[in-house]
Amino acid sequence: MQLTVQMKLIPDHEQIFLIENILNNYIATVNDIVSDFVSMNQIDKRTSANISTSMPSALKNQAIQDARSVFKKYTKDLKSTISFNEKNPTKKQKTVKVPVLKRPVAIWNNQNYSIGEDSISFPVWKDGKSKKLTFRVITTEYQKALLQNKLGTLRISKKQGKYIAQIAVDAPIENNHGTSVMGIDLGLKIPAVAVTDTQKVKFFGNGRENRYKKRMARLKRKSLGKAKKLKALRKLDDKEQRWMKDKDHKVSREIVNFAKENNVKVIQMEELSGIQTARTSRKNAKNLHTWSFYRLTQFIEYKANLAGIEVVYVNPMYTSQTCPACGKKNHANDRKYKCPCGFKTHRDILGARNIITAPVTGGNSLSA
Ligand SMILES: [Zn+2]
Repeated sequence: MQLTVQMKLIPDHEQIFLIENILNNYIATVNDIVSDFVSMNQIDKRTSANISTSMPSALKNQAIQDARSVFKKYTKDLKSTISFNEKNPTKKQKTVKVPVLKRPVAIWNNQNYSIGEDSISFPVWKDGKSKKLTFRVITTEYQKALLQNKLGTLRISKKQGKYIAQIAVDAPIENNHGTSVMGIDLGLKIPAVAVTDTQKVKFFGNGRENRYKKRMARLKRKSLGKAKKLKALRKLDDKEQRWMKDKDHKVSREIVNFAKENNVKVIQMEELSGIQTARTSRKNAKNLHTWSFYRLTQFIEYKANLAGIEVVYVNPMYTSQTCPACGKKNHANDRKYKCPCGFKTHRDILGARNIITAPVTGGNSLSA
């Protein structure tokens, strides 16, 4: 399945100038070639050697290709309009305009760019020649995982003063003939609990181990902080992040395998709140939790989608309180949930069960 990964490009001062140049030159080149084709009323065999614009030749070739498809579409529209006008001589005559690109854009094919950790490198025109530069981009974990697949073109455009990079991704999606719905409740004590509507239950991850790891890292951080060993501090942070990320990959893989084994068609999870905190700040404990739930959620969504399983997000209100048997709201005591009607269950199983029936929000994993 073809997907598009859209990221925000963060060029520095010099890069803004270079990228602005390339986007404007690119659309000017496409527009020039299209108007050439229109005046000749045909496509010719021009190559990048025929184009004098200051652009890497890869972009010249891409511009020719773009101009060809713009012209083909134009002639097709023209033909259908002429035949429409002939068939309806009494109606107001339709016209077709020669298409002109206005919004700055440029396209690099997959031979001409490469992806790094939070960066993309592609050639621009600098000091009179083509030069490959590395640009910073903002990517989520989900996008990083998607970018592991076969990549298509890189398209950079300018929208409301911001530079947007879009990469076409060919993701291998499995066929899914499942019929069940599964709810997943994420937590700190137990990283994830899954319950299907056929009453299959499974616990995932090791909350105790995670907490121990975090506690040890906190202690180490404290002593390093006191000794002002900033480099070691950052190294420790990176190491802890990597460790947690590996755990999230493992848990998400196990969850999706469990879903496949149980004929799950749809996975439901709670929508998290606080898009700002999760994406931009990992400082305080609450944000840290939102952020780590967010990452696990993204991993599950990504792996589920590749398995052909749909992921929907639900309103988290009362999922930990409502009794599935009678609908009354009670607070769980410790890990056990008991309703006066007689219903009782493990608190986290209750959450996952209620997530199956909670109202769908229609949003993605994070609400603003
Ligand atoms: Zn009840």
